[in-house]
Amino acid sequence: MDERGQYKTALDLAKRALEYIARFGTPPTPHAFELFYTVCAGQNASLNEAVSRATANKKTLSANETEKLYQEYLEPQTQSPQMETIGTKMGCEMTGLLALLGTAATNANTYQASLQSAEEKLKSPQADQNIPEMVRSLHSATQNMARANLEISANLETSRAQVELLEDCLKEVREESSRDPLTGLVNRRRFDILLDDALLGASSSGEPACLLVIDIDNFKIFNDSHGHIAGDSALRYVASCIKSNIKGQDTAARYGGEEFAVILPNTSIEHAMSLAERIRHLVNARHLVKKATGVDMGRISVSIGAAMNMEGDSAESFLNRADMCMYAAKNGGRNQVQDSPAPQPGESLPNVEIHAA
Ligand code: GH3
Ligand code: MG
Ligand code: MG
Repeated sequence: MDERGQYKTALDLAKRALEYIARFGTPPTPHAFELFYTVCAGQNASLNEAVSRATANKKTLSANETEKLYQEYLEPQTQSPQMETIGTKMGCEMTGLLALLGTAATNANTYQASLQSAEEKLKSPQADQNIPEMVRSLHSATQNMARANLEISANLETSRAQVELLEDCLKEVREESSRDPLTGLVNRRRFDILLDDALLGASSSGEPACLLVIDIDNFKIFNDSHGHIAGDSALRYVASCIKSNIKGQDTAARYGGEEFAVILPNTSIEHAMSLAERIRHLVNARHLVKKATGVDMGRISVSIGAAMNMEGDSAESFLNRADMCMYAAKNGGRNQVQDSPAPQPGESLPNVEIHAA
């Protein structure tokens, strides 16, 4: 396709992406645009399936759902260039190491040949006369071998240090790619893996595992009133309230836009509930103040759903149950913890109070 043709196709995809954004009532963020642009381009079949599933019944896609889909299906690609660089460097080191091993093998063969020829000369009838010459030549071959070995071990040492450095980089990139950059909590990709692990652990140990789903109440209103940057600080604040209440094997994750999840291995539902209650209380205990202006943005609150694993649970069913409990907490009036999914559909939700200074 020529340049003009490519431009027309891209423009057409962009228009269709905007049409989807309007049709599903999705807030037109850059991530939403990228997501629908990719959907229209049709090159990511699993993303297309996930979007179809998410919009099948309700014909809408909220900011939160968009962000979840974005993180699951599009964000991982942003890490790959770093991984690629490390991969290329590792490859170079491996090639260097192979060359070193080749040199070491050649040296060993040469030395072996010198020893063999000495052995043969020793067997000959004139061995006595050859001894001084043989000693000289063996001495020289041994010296050569020692020099070559020294050089190889110096090169090996440099290579080892380089590989260690690359391994550290790899660890860092892996660690970074499993963290949410805003809050420092584990991201959704890593969370999904850890949730599977927790379920496996629970079924093999027979100990209960619990899961909390934590959603900030009326966060859209908070963002609209105080701006996205203040919203980001509020997200960090909630993350810090969660972090300060968990320990050991527990994992806190940013699961979606303003949604968090906590995996609690070896924890009874009673303990999970009291932990959730502590988090809920701590989040709501302080007024948030804009640093630059001193403006009091009031308190924020969270609704928390707590669930315990059941026999035969998949990560999805476990998460769904905790989600349902969270929605029950929303329906119950928000700023509360629920451990039973008792949704009251259709009930109108009260707004949270925001005290502007
Ligand atoms: P509910 O109590 O029912 O959960 O209402 P809500 O307003 O919190 O939920 P809704 O899904 O309508 O809106 C979520 C808001 O979260 C909308 C979006 O602007 C905000 N949000 C999501 N991710 C981010 C983020 O990374 N930064 C900021 N500042 N806001 C975010
Ligand atoms: Mg939400
Ligand atoms: Mg919310």
